[in-house]
Amino acid sequence: MSKADYYEVLGVSRDASDQELKSAYRKQAMKYHPDRNPGDHTAEEKFKEASEAYQVLSDADKRAAYDRYGHAGVGAAGQGGFGGPFAGGVDLGDIFGDLFGEMFNMGGSQQRATRQRRGEDLRYDLTINFEDAIFGTEKEIRIRRRETCETCHGSGSASGKGPSTCPQCQGRGQIRYQQGFFSVARTCSACGGAGSIVTDPCSVCRGETRVAKEIRLNVKVPAGVEEGTRIRYGGEGDAGRSGGPGGDLYVVLSIRPHDFFERSGHDLHCVIPISFPQAALGAEIEIPGIDGPVSLKVPEGTQSGRELRIRGRGVPYLNEKGRGDLVVKIMVQIPKKLSRAQRELVAKLAESLTVDNKPTSPSLLEKMKDLFS
Ligand SMILES: [Zn+2]
Ligand SMILES: [Zn+2]
Repeated sequence: MSKADYYEVLGVSRDASDQELKSAYRKQAMKYHPDRNPGDHTAEEKFKEASEAYQVLSDADKRAAYDRYGHAGVGAAGQGGFGGPFAGGVDLGDIFGDLFGEMFNMGGSQQRATRQRRGEDLRYDLTINFEDAIFGTEKEIRIRRRETCETCHGSGSASGKGPSTCPQCQGRGQIRYQQGFFSVARTCSACGGAGSIVTDPCSVCRGETRVAKEIRLNVKVPAGVEEGTRIRYGGEGDAGRSGGPGGDLYVVLSIRPHDFFERSGHDLHCVIPISFPQAALGAEIEIPGIDGPVSLKVPEGTQSGRELRIRGRGVPYLNEKGRGDLVVKIMVQIPKKLSRAQRELVAKLAESLTVDNKPTSPSLLEKMKDLFS
């Protein structure tokens, strides 16, 4: 079994954009996520395959290397976060790893026999309130991750003696043979490249050395986070194997919208209606801020649509002192109903305004004539 093509795994064309890759990966990840398919190993494999494919193709350098040299160009990817060596058959990565490995400093071949393996990275999507993103919060989350099996203490074997050296490859993880000029290495089919095999698997983890567990974790969301902020918890992902380090947990934040405020970077925006006299004469009014009332001075002659800025009442800077601004858009409201007395007052006002403030300028009238002729 050779490794599947990354583009085929994600079901995208070779010239897919970053956005297409992302949405294709998201679709696959949602479908095959282990949390949604508990105990389904096929789904788990597909999830890993898709993750590995995305990990490579979403990185411009790795993608270019993959496009040029196939799996061999990104041989190092299997060592980290997702995936790992694939069992059985000729691994093209090994063949080209030998040819190009040193040139690209990807080594590879020898590392395949290393028994320690890092745990997988995990992602948790956390949705928080608008205010919590601004002022920070603390949330308890529950995640499912693989932890070292307590029954066999991570050895994977029932007797506790742990894995023994693979008899087929003598622990190298590869079988070498001569092909023309080259010495070709193929992944050992007996141990899948690990270099060791468990002969008496543990009954709880079935030799995998880890078991899935649900744990609770306190997530501290700092003030001023943005949509899509990733918080990394080193070592809080899946446990490593055979003493390898744990993977990382990434908490990815999304923020619920607010009824009244909108956010743009560190500024908050809102719309405030005021009356015609307030706009004309100016006024000092109190408006709701994100953290309590704010007083706003509306200057005389304020036009509808004008934006007034209140310094320091926006979003706090992340890891820094100070805050952005509150930007208030003024909307002048025209009364819909007037009493007879009010109507007379407005009419009088209109009369006194006609001289210096004509409702339509001559040039605008010209333009409108053009428009309707
Ligand atoms: Zn072997
Ligand atoms: Zn076990």
